[in-house]
Amino acid sequence: MEIIDSHCHLQDPALFPHRAGIIARAKNAGVTYMLTCGTSPEDWQSVCDIAHEYSGIIPAFGVHPHKCDSIPADWEKRLIDMLGNTKSAVGEIGLDFAEKGIDRTRQQAIFIRQMEIARELKRPVSIHARQCWDVMPALLEKYAHDLIIIIHSCSASRELIPRLTDGAIYCSFSGTLTYSRNKRAHDAVRAVPRDRLLIESDAPDLPPVINGAVQHDVPNEPGNITATLKSMAVLRVVDEDTMAGTLLQNTLRALTAVMS
Ligand SMILES: [Zn+2]
Repeated sequence: MEIIDSHCHLQDPALFPHRAGIIARAKNAGVTYMLTCGTSPEDWQSVCDIAHEYSGIIPAFGVHPHKCDSIPADWEKRLIDMLGNTKSAVGEIGLDFAEKGIDRTRQQAIFIRQMEIARELKRPVSIHARQCWDVMPALLEKYAHDLIIIIHSCSASRELIPRLTDGAIYCSFSGTLTYSRNKRAHDAVRAVPRDRLLIESDAPDLPPVINGAVQHDVPNEPGNITATLKSMAVLRVVDEDTMAGTLLQNTLRALTAVMS
């Protein structure tokens, strides 16, 4: 069984010092590729270094909505340079209206500029969308037909899924799918067309339930994605191998431009 983790942060200080063991455990679990998303110019070099150091690490560079207020003035030039020098995706970018104190207009401007850069450079994008579903679908529609868009840890409602997946949009689900009370995600994962489903760890965040419990005392890691795969297979009423095969095909299609 082969799995591609479509969104994680191996450069995060919680994982970076332990990356050798984490990547080895992921590969043991069948995770052959990990899309490692940067969050601001501060961590892009670290993402780049891990991708050079280990096989199977696909780098992504972007300004996370939480970082919009603390980026240097030349972020745009630095992003274009990073993307130009590396086979890489754009991410993590997006909107987070749950996070108080970060100006929404500024978030949108930085998000849209990065979408334009992704379109110019023909790179897939990994998107963070939290409590912004009143504005996000209309924004994405402008790009959905000429850009590969991955909604990471998808929190869209079941009703929104057909509208989102009409263009080239993929929906990626994380460890929160394993929470028995997360009916919204369970309904959404069933509503996504088979060829638009992806899976991710979002490590070090969003740990799945493993053996009946969520491990909050240790950082989540990509190898734990097998627990999410299990839940997804149950929800989609297929066996795990079939589920993994579908996800693999979808991820290879979505990330073609940045796989080596
Ligand atoms: Zn993330």
